Amino acid sequence: MKFKILTIFPDMFAPLKQSVIGRAQICGAIEIDIVDIRSYSKCKHRKVDDEPYGGGAGMVMTCQPIFDAIQAVDPYHEYLRVYLSPKGEVLKHSLSKDLSKNHDKILLLCGHYEGVDQRIIDLMIDKEISIGDFVLTGGELAAMVFVDAVSRHIGGVLGNEESSQDESFSSNLLEYPQYTRPFEFMGQKVPEILLGGHHANIEKWRNEQSKITTKEKRPDLLGD
Ligand code: SAM
Repeated sequence: MKFKILTIFPDMFAPLKQSVIGRAQICGAIEIDIVDIRSYSKCKHRKVDDEPYGGGAGMVMTCQPIFDAIQAVDPYHEYLRVYLSPKGEVLKHSLSKDLSKNHDKILLLCGHYEGVDQRIIDLMIDKEISIGDFVLTGGELAAMVFVDAVSRHIGGVLGNEESSQDESFSSNLLEYPQYTRPFEFMGQKVPEILLGGHHANIEKWRNEQSKITTKEKRPDLLGD
């Protein structure tokens, strides 16, 4: 999977060099290219924003630098072009999985200020995606969340020890509780069933716990 991230704050993406996503780039499972929108600005002060027509608070990101940046990095429209936006479809497990299966090139446009000129969305963007019903100050954190969530479905990104198979949302259920050593901590013991090595019983217990947890915390996922 190749990601291109268009931003006016390229330095914000240092976290993508760490941990699982950092290793996934080193082993070649994913590629992430950060593109500085400012370097495409034709304004001599590298300006990328202007006041909104009709008045109102804040600034709006202008068309020219974004249009030129997208044309330069994706001239044949090979990438699915996504604008991170609070107005977009909310990113859920199922959407992150579908995107990872159906696309191998994704371009992410990060907005800032009051967002981007609508004509960029109309002319250049295939899909708007939100990471939740709240407003961030910019699309950079949303882009990192997006890359992380989508990349986890790509072969070679997670090692065995980080398998996504039984995880929360994988079958509309939240994950069962997890325990590790020591057996007893502050008087709390690990459930006996996990110690016996009886795989079928452990599986059954985990499944029951998943249902209980989901019913308690996210009954909406059960759909009844
Ligand atoms: N004025 C916009 C509105 O009310 O819809 C909000 C703009 S927000 C302050 C600046 C940028 O942050 C947006 O252009 C978008 O790229 C990003 N952003 C904010 N909230 C987001 C969310 N929930 N999901 C994805 N991106 C978001």
